[in-house]
Amino acid sequence: MRITVIYDNEVSNRKLKPGWGFSSLVETANTPPILFDAGADSPTLLQNMKELGIDPKRIGVIVISHAHGDHTGGLPGILEVNKEVEIYVPASFGGTIPGRKATTVTEPVRISEEVYSTGELRGVEQSLAISTNKGIFVLVGCSHPGVDNIIDAASRFGKVYGILGGFHGFRYFERLKGLSLICPCHCTQYKSEILKLFPQQCIKCEAGLVLEQ
Ligand SMILES: [Zn+2]
Ligand SMILES: [Zn+2]
Repeated sequence: MRITVIYDNEVSNRKLKPGWGFSSLVETANTPPILFDAGADSPTLLQNMKELGIDPKRIGVIVISHAHGDHTGGLPGILEVNKEVEIYVPASFGGTIPGRKATTVTEPVRISEEVYSTGELRGVEQSLAISTNKGIFVLVGCSHPGVDNIIDAASRFGKVYGILGGFHGFRYFERLKGLSLICPCHCTQYKSEILKLFPQQCIKCEAGLVLEQ
């Protein structure tokens, strides 16, 4: 399994553009890549993809975590270059995408062989649970339902060992104990506290980060 951060407030090199938003790509062995969230704008998303060698036409599925503009703004750009892509949106997204195969998510659902949606939690947001040989890796957008609730929901698919994405205002830091990989991204209010508390487990999030698991 490989996760590439495409869009984040921070970047790993000067060729990538930072932006207030989040997007990442999930690649697993037997399925076309899944784009998780689309950042705040199409030009930055597409430019960063090009820089990272990601062909938007290869993306098989787009999963939108929640309806905020910093996670959906790049959607039109991808839809324009990829006419086949399937979409999973949470019910709170409010509608589907004309002319596209779109699934409205409320309950947990299997998206591909190794990737599941937690379902829409607290009526606002879905996260991904990715099955790896180390356990479950959780990919989150902004974590509006709470990181603890998301980890609980993802635990139905197996033991959670790692998490990447925006943690929002999450501060029940004890709940992160026991995880071996913590990667707080865009929109994590207590990022420096988390990095300080879990120096061994934390990885710095930035566009250009590639995590192979
Ligand atoms: Zn949000
Ligand atoms: Zn956000």
